[in-house]
Amino acid sequence: MKIEGGRLVGDHVDHVTSPNHGETFANGGPDTLILHHTACASAASAVRILMDPQRQVSAHLVVAEDGTITQLLPFNIIGWHAGRSAWADRTEFNQFSIGVEIDNPGRLHQRDGRLFTWFEREIAEADAVQGVHRNESASSWWHRYPTRQLEMIEQLCQLLVSTYSVRYILGHEEVAPQRKVDPGPAFPLDQIRSRVLGDVPSPSTDAGTP
Ligand SMILES: [Zn+2]
Repeated sequence: MKIEGGRLVGDHVDHVTSPNHGETFANGGPDTLILHHTACASAASAVRILMDPQRQVSAHLVVAEDGTITQLLPFNIIGWHAGRSAWADRTEFNQFSIGVEIDNPGRLHQRDGRLFTWFEREIAEADAVQGVHRNESASSWWHRYPTRQLEMIEQLCQLLVSTYSVRYILGHEEVAPQRKVDPGPAFPLDQIRSRVLGDVPSPSTDAGTP
């Protein structure tokens, strides 16, 4: 996998073009990766939503469960994935970030001892993870991220960090903690960012630095 002219090139990469986007990034391009989960039934249905002009949402990439990637916007164009957002001393993270949507249905609910997605697909316990979300205090169930998908995301983060001046890898749940829970506790966000970036400044220690 490599990046050529804002496009990801590789064996497992497809390209489409979303009509939902802003201008090109100002000031030398994106410096943040924002990781999301799609909360959709499939990567294909997520791509359809992110292509729909009525929905006014997009992301640069969608990573399917099997690790295949769809690129919807070149990396020099502003996508519409973060929404109202704030972290450290900045707001409006679409202006600074590449959005990566990870195919995963998100939080599960329990009924009669069985686990279901929000769209009522039953999930085997082997595909579920119990954990406390960083923005919450009670434990709940979440859909597991397959190893193949996690490996692809880490590789992708490495590639984007080495190609662009990326300083931060953040979850949507961190830049919009009142509204968003993605990518959630089943996703090894802290591990991936420390492996990719090394020691990362936290919002409290980073706030107020120029
Ligand atoms: Zn999100």
